[in-house]
This record gives sequence, C-alpha cells and structure tokens, in this order.
Amino acid sequence: METLKNPPTEKKVFLETFGCQSNVLESDHVAGLLVRNHFTLTGKMEEADVILFNTCSIRQHAEDKVFSRLGQLVDWKRDKEGRVIGVLGCMATSYKDHLLERAPHLDMVVGPDQYLKVPQAIREASQSGQSQVLADFDPLYFPENDPRRLSQPHKAFIEIMKGCDKFCTFCVVPFTRGREVSRPAESIVAEAERLARSGVKEVMLLGQNVNSYGLSPGSKDKTLTFDQLLEEVGRVPGLERVRFMTSHPLDLSDELVETMARVPAVCESIHLPVQCGSDKVLKRMNRKYSVAHYLERVGKLRASIKDLFITTDLIVGFPGESDGDFRRTLDLLEEVRYDAVYSFKYSPRLGTPAARMLDPVPEEAKDARLAALNEKAWKHAAEKCEARLGRVEEVLVDGPADKTPGAFYGKSRQNRTVVFKGQGYRTGDRVRVRIESHKVANLYGTPVEPQGKGRGEK
Ligand code: SF4
Repeated sequence: METLKNPPTEKKVFLETFGCQSNVLESDHVAGLLVRNHFTLTGKMEEADVILFNTCSIRQHAEDKVFSRLGQLVDWKRDKEGRVIGVLGCMATSYKDHLLERAPHLDMVVGPDQYLKVPQAIREASQSGQSQVLADFDPLYFPENDPRRLSQPHKAFIEIMKGCDKFCTFCVVPFTRGREVSRPAESIVAEAERLARSGVKEVMLLGQNVNSYGLSPGSKDKTLTFDQLLEEVGRVPGLERVRFMTSHPLDLSDELVETMARVPAVCESIHLPVQCGSDKVLKRMNRKYSVAHYLERVGKLRASIKDLFITTDLIVGFPGESDGDFRRTLDLLEEVRYDAVYSFKYSPRLGTPAARMLDPVPEEAKDARLAALNEKAWKHAAEKCEARLGRVEEVLVDGPADKTPGAFYGKSRQNRTVVFKGQGYRTGDRVRVRIESHKVANLYGTPVEPQGKGRGEK
C-alpha cells in the first residue's frame, strides 16, 4: 500500500487514458492514489502541473496519438519549472527508457505493475529534474486494497488476471503485460463484495483471456475455473449485473455457457474475438482454433442463452491474406450476424512474429477490405436494432444524455446504449424502457414504469 512520504502538495494532475478497459481500471487506481497523496485531479490540461498518459500499444495508431501528444508538450514543459510529463501503461513496458530518446522532455515512464510508485515518481521528477523509468513486471502484484476513484459510481471493473500466454503472432500483449497470472478467487470475490456495499450494481471481470482463468501454470490460485468464479461473483448480494471481457474462443467451455445461461446476474452478452474467417490466416495468426470450432461455440452459446448479444474483433490485411481469405471473413460475418464488430487494419507491432512475416497486404487493399467489412457489419447491427423495436429493455441509468435535452441514457442487459425521455432519474436507477426507434447502434424509447423488477428475470 502506498504511504505518504512527503508533505501535502498542491500539484494538479491531468490524466488521460488510451486503450482498453484494463487501462481504465488502472487509471482509476492511479487517480485514487494521487488523491490519497494530496494531489488534485483536473480535467483541464491547461491548468495542470503534471500530465500523465496511460497508454496502449495494441495498434500503431494508438501509439502515434501519444507521440503526437508528447510532441505538443515540449513548450508547455519548458514554460514553467517543476512541470512533469509521464507515460504509464503498455508503452512504458514496450519502450522502457527508449521512450526518453523519442521524447527527451518526458519525466517518468511507469509500467502497469508499478503504478503504486506514481505519486513518488512525480515528486522525485519534479524536485530532482531526473527522469524516472519504472517498467519492470511484478507478476505477483494485484491491487487488493489500493485506493481507487471509480469513473462511475454504479459500475466497476475487477481485474481477475493479467498477462497472456496465447502469443497470437500480431499481438504485443504477452510482451507488454507479461505471462498469464490469475488473481486468487477469494480476493476477487472480496473486492466484488466491497464494491457492492459501496453502491456498485454492475461489475465487469477483466482479463486478456478470462476463459483460461485459474488454468495457466503461473496462476496464484487454481481453486476455481472461470465459470465457477463467475457464479461466485454472480451471487454477491447487491450486484445486479456481471459481465466479463475478453473471451478466447479456444477456451470457451460448455460449463461457462451453462453458467451464463443459469446465473441471473450474468448478462446476455459476450465479446468473442474471431479476428479472421480464413483457417489459413487464423493459423498464421496462431489463434489455435478453426472457423468450424468458432462457429460451433457460437451455435452452443445461441442455443443456450436466449437473446444473446455477440460482438467480435476482426483484423483485415494480415500478412498473406488473399482476396479469397477475405471473402471467407465476409462469409463468416454473414453466418454469425454480429450485434457489433470492432474492425481494424493490420499494423505491424515491434517484436511480434507477424512483423517479420513476408507478403504484406497493400494499404489500398486493406482500406477496401475494411470498408466492405464495415458496410456489412453496420447492416447487421442495424437489423439487430430493428429487431428490438417494440420490446422492453431493462436499462441501468448512466446519467443525463448530453446530446438529447430532457433525456437520460444507460445500458441494456445486452450492453446496448438506450436513450429515453424522462425526469428525475439517478445514475444507477433501473428503468424499463419500450424501444421505439434506433439511430446507428443506439436505441431510443420511453419508460414503461419508473422501476424495473430487476435481478432474477432470466
Ligand atoms: S489472446 Fe492473443 S490477441 Fe488476445 S491478448 Fe493474448 S496474445 Fe493478444
């Protein structure tokens, strides 16, 4: 646990988060630590004394954004003594001190397993002017009772494992987050109970591959498998919704599907990345499953869980992907008809096996494939929204809708955004909303009653 080693400070900190839910969770912890250590958080970069970027390395584009932000801060740093700029997260572990060569005005580089040291690193960088690089892995560290500032009072992420042992050839995660380690189940359930007691109604269990929870050689605890853990968390009094992210199709067990179908708090929603519809490309990606296996798992999920919302990740333009391979991806899309697709153009990541593969796909072909894929994916998403018209969705309210005056918004159990007219709702309320229209992938409707019946309706 971080202790206060210096007198209170008045420094204002601007913290910007890039990337996935794991980074959002880590930023919540960093924010909590900073507040406990008497720093002030600000949402305005122009009034900050300290600027921190919690970064993502998953795609070149994400890194480019951070390098561009850093470039814009050269004059800002020079203008006032004692100002501090820090890079946290995946770019810290992938670049370590090489980041200082690209951005010599950077003061601190702090990896995901070292964020407890952020307050002290800020003080030392500010006082000594010496850059701090703290990017080592600490596989045995999990946040147990660390302070945390929840981004939303009614929803929280819970880290159940870290790292990844799958080594997909395009992915940097095994290098930026280390080998797979599961957190003890007792500690996870205790955190879920603490969160529920503090008013949290929905939790998302987070890991790079939650389906292999408790199975990897490096796990601290092998008492429960993921389906058993999900059931335990689903039983925590006060938690109305439990979600999880991300699932690897290879490890998606029948037991997990049955638990999803049986436990009332577990939402009817799954993110199941397929990445490509061609067996040849899946093999080059080292995804370890075939298209047939993937489709069999989707069939099992749909047969077991009524009204299931399925989303996926797809990469176009992986090295060696031919027109025929891409057509197989479109065929897969047609067969599964996802509720939402997160699509990306392949970009080589430093140090990964795919970055050394020959046979790159030309950028124009990648662009054309991405456009064709998105067109089909949006058509399916719109059809899925159409199918919700006239139905009643249980919505957990996130707050007033910024772009629609006199309206609120929240998420359905399936994780669709629902906007509805009304007054006096509070964040965390549950409202039953009849869906009347949709725009892009958002649903719009009118409450049928002020409060839903809630948990137990499955
Ligand atoms: S399963 Fe593959 S894509 Fe996902 S984090 Fe692990 S290596 Fe990366």
